[in-house]
Amino acid sequence: MGSPRLAFVIHSVCSFRTLLVLLLWSLAITALAKPKVLASIKPLALIAQEVAGDQADIDILLPITASAHDYPLKMSDHRRLRDADLVLWVGAELESFLARPLANLPAENVLGSYTLDGLFWPEVDDHGHDHPGHDSVHQHSNGDPHIWLDPRNAAIIARAVAQRLGRIAPASAAYYAQNAERFSQSLQALDTRLLTQLAPVKSLGFAVYHEGYSHFVAHYGLHQLAYVTFTPERRPGAKHLQALRNVLAREGRCVFMEPYQNSRSIEEMGRSLGLNIGLLDPIGNDKVSSYNDLMEQLGQSFLTCLADGRNTGAHR
Ligand SMILES: [Zn+2]
Ligand SMILES: [Zn+2]
Repeated sequence: MGSPRLAFVIHSVCSFRTLLVLLLWSLAITALAKPKVLASIKPLALIAQEVAGDQADIDILLPITASAHDYPLKMSDHRRLRDADLVLWVGAELESFLARPLANLPAENVLGSYTLDGLFWPEVDDHGHDHPGHDSVHQHSNGDPHIWLDPRNAAIIARAVAQRLGRIAPASAAYYAQNAERFSQSLQALDTRLLTQLAPVKSLGFAVYHEGYSHFVAHYGLHQLAYVTFTPERRPGAKHLQALRNVLAREGRCVFMEPYQNSRSIEEMGRSLGLNIGLLDPIGNDKVSSYNDLMEQLGQSFLTCLADGRNTGAHR
């Protein structure tokens, strides 16, 4: 029989080792715990994903079927906002429903993109020619919050995410910064490709469903004549619809619908005028798995609808 004293010593050594193992294990967990990023909408999540690589977890707050302009937050959404190490959003100009909940979070846990330094904004101009009568329907607003639709802005957002994540997880700071740089370079290639692809359809007139594309339209010099509605939630008035019809009848080639919007009457108007009916998705559906995908898909939609259904064959 072993002495009780020896048993005691063995026992304490064991529990000391157990404690040590537990301690090391918890330290390892802390070191390995990836920052949790919660992006309000998919395009921001796609940008954050480029930066995060495998060293942060990216989640999206809104379902892709939801409107970024208006969304009823659930209790579980509030919890997700509180649990995130970083909440990435555009700003009250887009996701106004997030302004209040985010004001209650510590400032270091929130990154708004709308106010980042150096963002590119579409210039409000008359695209260099005059047609009487279409100004009332095609004037762009200042400060369109769909800022991610200009790839140069995506690069700026990526750098800001890298900087913030680097503060949260300093061990990965260099990794994030590197990813942001590599992403920026891929954006330049994407940008050049889109500029080339879209050049042949620049002068062809179209209407978008909601006024959410001015960053894309202005950057690629496209000829937007009008929007159907300012935000998806607003119903266009009869006067606006009449002006829309007039300008489309005069010089429209295509009218764009959006997924998840009931726009049957607009579609019928477009068909009655002999226009192509296209589909634009500024958020990206399930098949879109990268920011580049999202932008390529948009470019392709413009190309297809404006080029009379034919691919002009600049690329792909
Ligand atoms: Zn929008
Ligand atoms: Zn025009």
